[in-house]
Amino acid sequence: MKDCDCYATATDSLRADMWKRILPPDGKVPIVSPLPKGMGSFPDGEGWKGRIRAEFYLVDFGRVTPEQKQRLIQEISRKFNQPESEVIKDIERQGAPIKGTDVMVSWCHRHMMAII
Ligand SMILES: [Zn+2]
Repeated sequence: MKDCDCYATATDSLRADMWKRILPPDGKVPIVSPLPKGMGSFPDGEGWKGRIRAEFYLVDFGRVTPEQKQRLIQEISRKFNQPESEVIKDIERQGAPIKGTDVMVSWCHRHMMAII
């Protein structure tokens, strides 16, 4: 969304580093809403074998450049050992969910006013 300035920032160093590679220099991820979109299933981070349920936010691709989107696709492809074509299909189908744990969300003025 154009007039939204909400961001998610990872607070665990592994994901913070990944987001800094995708969205330099600070790794601030534009999100469509500062409120979680629901519950999703995510790798638990321990060798990516287990799954956990967690709230998630969605990347706002309206505020991501084509280069950043391409880097995001490459990172996901590498991290989950999945062909880039599959990652692109997933993103087209369900967007790019960000696990809401260990994430700091900053609210834009517009969304702040909407809940008052
Ligand atoms: Zn916003």
